[in-house]
Amino acid sequence: MSTNLAIHHERTLYLDELGKSIASCGADNKRLALLIVNIDQLWDITITYGYKVGDMILGQFVERMEGILRDADRIVQIGESDFAVMLPAVMNQGHATLAANKILGLLDEPFIIEDQYLNVDAKIGIAFFPDHAEDPELLTQRAALALRHAQSIGNLCETYTFSCYEEESAPIMLAHEFRNAIKSDELKMVYQPQVNLQEEKVCGVEALVRWTSPTLGVMSPEIFIPVAEKSRDLMSFFTTWTLNTTMRHYIESGMHANGVKLSVNLSAALLNDAEIVDTILTTMSIWGVEPENLVLEVTESSIMAHPEKSLHILKKFDDVGITLSIDDFGTGYSSLAYLRKLPVKELKIDKSFVTGMLNSNDDRKIVQSIIDMSHNFDLLVVAEGVEDMETLKLLAQMGCDVGQGYFISKPTPMDVLKHWMNEDGSWKMTIQT
Ligand code: C2E
Ligand code: MG
Ligand code: MG
Repeated sequence: MSTNLAIHHERTLYLDELGKSIASCGADNKRLALLIVNIDQLWDITITYGYKVGDMILGQFVERMEGILRDADRIVQIGESDFAVMLPAVMNQGHATLAANKILGLLDEPFIIEDQYLNVDAKIGIAFFPDHAEDPELLTQRAALALRHAQSIGNLCETYTFSCYEEESAPIMLAHEFRNAIKSDELKMVYQPQVNLQEEKVCGVEALVRWTSPTLGVMSPEIFIPVAEKSRDLMSFFTTWTLNTTMRHYIESGMHANGVKLSVNLSAALLNDAEIVDTILTTMSIWGVEPENLVLEVTESSIMAHPEKSLHILKKFDDVGITLSIDDFGTGYSSLAYLRKLPVKELKIDKSFVTGMLNSNDDRKIVQSIIDMSHNFDLLVVAEGVEDMETLKLLAQMGCDVGQGYFISKPTPMDVLKHWMNEDGSWKMTIQT
């Protein structure tokens, strides 16, 4: 029998057994608890002391469990370091938690193997028939999800709830959908103009991604980008797609010839990966984008996540003449002293301060301080989230260099935006100051 068949055979036996147990509990109107117990450091022990020692620990652990469980309870090994523990006819959910805690308590004492004292920890996920599932496969999946949830939040034991699904499975499914979306052309890039408030002229466009999924509907980048960031491979696939699409649109629009810059958002995860420098430089040379035409937007928090590595990467961009901009400025906690060390040339005031400016004196003072501070450090200051003429006028009076927001234009496909601008790339609207 091949290994695959052996695994399949074992799993079929386990599911058959669980199925029978469920059926008999169902017939008696009883509840069944399924515990999935995972031993944390078994692999560490196996690679350090050998399979034999690992197997002896498993054997002793099973003996300890048998010592505290009832005769009707069953233990089946379902993975390298996983056991399914079936507790038929449990009185209520509390009893199952009690049993789980007893099992965890069994690991307080070390295992003594060949004169060595070895300790392992475990985590447990619990699901109940009929509460969480009625068939053995789904019940096992739900108990396993509860286990994953326990592992990700750092608890020893978790019982399945819908939030286990939302927090553990939904992001995995979303990542799969997102990967397919890139392949099947569901992503679109839109562009939002940035206007120089003193010259009343479009000076840049920010590229923003849009995803309308046939099954999930309109998805916000604030939801799918953090999910994509969890997989280096997916992030790199997405980044290559965005950079190529955006630079092609930009060059084909001819905006570069009118002195309109292209701003691209860089995800936090990329600032921890030196490969991004090559990816961007290569894409620029493919499409003929000059460094002085490109602005890379990074957030304070993404830099602070890996300050040393980010600084190294940012310096490389600065060295070749690409402009670096701090996005959502004011929402993070970076100190001025630290910001001074970064090779940035632009600050974007977070939209929360800009939209609140007309009604809140505090917000207005924050915006004014950021403008003054930016100018003291010779930084260009951009206000995002300009939603009305009054805010725009006020920003111009306050000395802000550049404005961006729904009042000027919503993010729009490049071909539409091109018609919106004058031939010479100037902005049609005048600010009535
Ligand atoms: P961001 O870079 O700060 O982008 C500005 C966000 O504000 C955009 O949301 C934009 O549609 C929205 N916005 C523009 N004007 C206004 C306004 O007047 N009022 C209000 N309330 N909002 C306005 P969006 O497109 O949903 O993007 C959200 C965030 O997702 C972006 O924040 C950026 O961090 C990220 N993102 C978007 N597209 C991309 C992309 O292609 N790559 C990467 N890495 N991140 C992206
Ligand atoms: Mg941005
Ligand atoms: Mg922003």
